[in-house]
Amino acid sequence: MSHVFHRSSKGTLPVAAKGDGVYILDTNGKRYLDASGGAAVSCLGHSHPKVVQAIKDQVDQLAYAHTGFFTNQALEELSDHLIARAPGDLQYVYMVSGGSEAMEAALKLGRQYFIEKGEPERRHFIARRQSYHGNTLGALAIGGNMWRREQFSPILIDSNYVPPCYAYRDQRPDETPEEYGLRIADELDERIRQLGPETVIGFVAETVVGATAGALAPTEGYLKRIREICDRHGILLILDEVMCGMGRTGTLFACEQDGVAPDIAAIAKGLGGGYQPIGAMLCTGEIYDTIRNGSGFFQHGHTYMGHPTACAAALAVQKVIDEENLLENVRQKGAKLFDALTARFGNHPFVGDIRGRGLFQALEIVADRGTKDPIEPAVQIHAKIKKHAMDLGLMCYPGGGTIDGKRGNHILLAPPFIVEDSHVEEIVGKLDDAMKAAFAEAGLSS
Ligand code: PMP
Repeated sequence: MSHVFHRSSKGTLPVAAKGDGVYILDTNGKRYLDASGGAAVSCLGHSHPKVVQAIKDQVDQLAYAHTGFFTNQALEELSDHLIARAPGDLQYVYMVSGGSEAMEAALKLGRQYFIEKGEPERRHFIARRQSYHGNTLGALAIGGNMWRREQFSPILIDSNYVPPCYAYRDQRPDETPEEYGLRIADELDERIRQLGPETVIGFVAETVVGATAGALAPTEGYLKRIREICDRHGILLILDEVMCGMGRTGTLFACEQDGVAPDIAAIAKGLGGGYQPIGAMLCTGEIYDTIRNGSGFFQHGHTYMGHPTACAAALAVQKVIDEENLLENVRQKGAKLFDALTARFGNHPFVGDIRGRGLFQALEIVADRGTKDPIEPAVQIHAKIKKHAMDLGLMCYPGGGTIDGKRGNHILLAPPFIVEDSHVEEIVGKLDDAMKAAFAEAGLSS
């Protein structure tokens, strides 16, 4: 019997034993192509020698030093590296241990910023339905995945929601995607006015929605309009790039492609590529200075923030991405993956939409392409596809079916930035086989 808590609800899982580029090997030597980077984490694949060496070197020198007593070289260098490449006026980095921690820091910083500005009445966050920002109480509270929030709702801070930018589902026949995006963005303006702009701290959104909708990118102009609305009302734009950031979509920050910079950004996953647990919150000079010139102290902190070993690993990951020009590979192989998915599944009776940016691509699974109705949630088609894919030696990241009973399931693909053409072919071929097996098991003929 296993004593691992998180294992007990998942039945028997293979035991991961070794990494080899885009593959993970289990203890039986079976190879799994990591087409989802776990949960969009492993951007460099597994066991990259330069990253492994950087971690060893750091541990040899100094594994850990508390940030209350010391700064450290890896933390300083990594922060410089990120800020040199960050959009807008992002100037300061708050290094934590993961995505939820980055989002918690973002929310608390937003609140404290306005207190220091003498606007303590600001207390509301507005987020989007069908979003995910983490599983700790603050991050869960602003998340718009109602299924995840449901049983904890009595102990969560209040949140306010506007619709996601979801053209495939919600665009009207008489409007272009751009018109749709602007109409949806304007709902934020309305919501801010309802709440009273002087009571709102910020708007929180994933630049490209990951786990809860499947590589759902904003329509052109949407984020720019959102930025204008935030500025009009003096509220913060907080972009969660935990999943879509750090090169996943083909630019280091996904929002670069929308020509927009946030006041606060959260990153994690691809920052350390899974080699160490790490995340970060980035904020503007204006926010930092307001606190520095006010109380002088952001009232927050964690024991492992700025962890030298984690920072050394992330710095090595980010340097390899630069040195090997991997963002170019993300763009090229992302286009290949999209084309291959379209060729294979473009006419599939249960695939309603194929979408994404860079190496962040998804299929939305529906019961009927015309009505876009989802497959009955009880069928758990996404879980079936995942299981059959694992049997075939392919990792993909399924989700959905639980939002409001109306949305489809999706399969998210987020392979390492080092994928080659042969891997793209293997991903699409095995996914096709897994889907055939899953639909057959569900009694649905494809
Ligand atoms: N935000 C987003 C957009 C995410 O995808 C995730 C993780 N799936 C998180 C926050 C939370 O990150 P973590 O699991 O590292 O706490």
